Amino acid sequence: MNLQIDISNECKNSCPICISKMHKPFPFNEASKHVWLNGLKRGRELCDTATISGRGEPLLFTENTQTGRLWALFKSFQQVDNIFKQVDVQTSGTEFSANSLNMMSDCNVSTVAISVANMFSSEQDLAFKGRRHLDYRISTLCDRVKSWRFTLRLTVLLNTMHSVPYPEELIDYAGLLGADQLTFKELKIPENSQALLKSSWIKRNKMKPYLVNELRAYIEKEGVPIPNTNPSLYKLFGMTVALDEDCMSETRYLVLRPNGKLYYSWNSVVPIE
Ligand code: SF4
Repeated sequence: MNLQIDISNECKNSCPICISKMHKPFPFNEASKHVWLNGLKRGRELCDTATISGRGEPLLFTENTQTGRLWALFKSFQQVDNIFKQVDVQTSGTEFSANSLNMMSDCNVSTVAISVANMFSSEQDLAFKGRRHLDYRISTLCDRVKSWRFTLRLTVLLNTMHSVPYPEELIDYAGLLGADQLTFKELKIPENSQALLKSSWIKRNKMKPYLVNELRAYIEKEGVPIPNTNPSLYKLFGMTVALDEDCMSETRYLVLRPNGKLYYSWNSVVPIE
C-alpha cells in the first residue's frame, strides 16, 4: 500500500483544471509536530511506499512555511531505521531549485514525477500553469532530475495540445526527454458542481476519445505487458508506460494529512482511527 503524504497547501500556479484550491487546508503548527510524526510512523507500519504530494505544489517550500516544516520532519524520519525505501514526489515542475533537489535527495526520494499539459512546448505548458516570466524549460528540468539520479516520470495530461502527433511520436518524444516512466492521464469531468471552471476547460480541451483509444491500442499492441500491475503497465521504447483513466481509482493507498491523521482517500473527512 502507498502512503500519500499531503505535504503542501500552497501553490503559485493557477492551472485551469485545479480543484485543490477549493478545499480548506488542514491545520498544522509547531504543536502538531509530534502528532504528525506519530501519524507518519503509523503510516509506515501500514504502507511500504510513499508519495509526497498535496493540495498544492510540494516543491514550493522555504524553512518557515508549513510545507518546509513538513519536509524537514519527513527528512528527520527518513534518517532513522525502517524508512520508506521508495518515495515518489509529484510536482508541476515550476519550483525546482537547488534546495528542493537537495531536500529530495536527503529524503531518499527515488522518483520525481513531473506533470505536463504540453510536453512539446515549455511556453504553452507554463501558460497552462498560469505562470509568466519564469526560467522554465521542460528539457532542462528533465536533465536536472536525471543528473541527480532520480527516476524520471512524466505525467502527460491528455488534452488537445497532445492530439496532433501519432502515438509513437508522443512516446518517442518522452523517451528523448529522458523519461524512465510515462503516464498518460485521461482528463475526466469532475462530479463536484463547484468545479465549473475546471469542467468547462476539460469539456473544451480534453483529448477526443477516439484518439485516447488509438493511444491505448498502440500501447497494448507494441508494449510488453508487465504482469500483475494495476493500472496495467507496459514496457515500450525502454520506458514503463501506463494509460491511466483515474490514477487513484484502483491504487491501494492512505492519505496522511498535515493534522497527523490517516484517511482512506483524498475525499474522506473522517480519519481511519
Ligand atoms: S500545480 Fe496542482 S495545485 Fe497548483 S494550480 Fe496546478 S493543479 Fe492546482
